[in-house]
Amino acid sequence: NGRQRTAKRQSKDSLLQDGDSKMSHLLPDLPYEFNALEPFFDEQTMQIHHGKHHAAYVDKLNTALDGHAAWAGRDIEDLIVNVNDVPEVIRTAVRNNGGGHYNHTLFWQVLAPADNGGGGTPSAALAEAIDRDFGGFDTFQATFSQAAVTRFGSGWAWLTVKSDGRLSVSSSPNQDNPLMKGFAGDPGKPILGLDVWEHAYYLKYQNRRPDYIEAFWNIVNWDFVAQRYEAATKVAHALT
Ligand code: MN
Repeated sequence: NGRQRTAKRQSKDSLLQDGDSKMSHLLPDLPYEFNALEPFFDEQTMQIHHGKHHAAYVDKLNTALDGHAAWAGRDIEDLIVNVNDVPEVIRTAVRNNGGGHYNHTLFWQVLAPADNGGGGTPSAALAEAIDRDFGGFDTFQATFSQAAVTRFGSGWAWLTVKSDGRLSVSSSPNQDNPLMKGFAGDPGKPILGLDVWEHAYYLKYQNRRPDYIEAFWNIVNWDFVAQRYEAATKVAHALT
């Protein structure tokens, strides 16, 4: 089948021990086949994006953390939330590659095949929150697409749950993430992310980023995003 055989398995964001008992971050399998998102995201892009780009972030993160025992044992969310406290000598590497690992691990999960759960609109609590905070799904979608189109250079568009439980759309450069202190937009817990690096779309869409973004809406896994929303709002509620 189309799966990458060499990818080690990883459950959620947790750390697993490899054979020599050294803690390391692992490349998660995709939750679907490489060709499952066709015709919106093509098989070759998915293979390269996961097997080369995401894998490289994981490898470089592990390399950066080697010899930094206090940080090597932390899970990926803990690492990026506290990235400004990481030793300066590895801080940029952890920001870029730890961010890359977190962001891509989320990205694969917010996608689903169009004939198996992808696309449409969210239901229940998330739909109500989108109506409350954006005035409707169409306005939210246009706002998010605009953030993705206008992000200059490489980066991400985000739907985030802020600490007060409200939703916010923003974008970030490079592999930055709304969980990082100093994030330029509204900080919070990202529940939906869209990769707008050229490596995510160039093979199929060349320079036509807006076409890639339009295709993305056909394969959003709203059930997963809604689960993340509900988990994040429970945390936000507990903090208030
Ligand atoms: Mn990417």
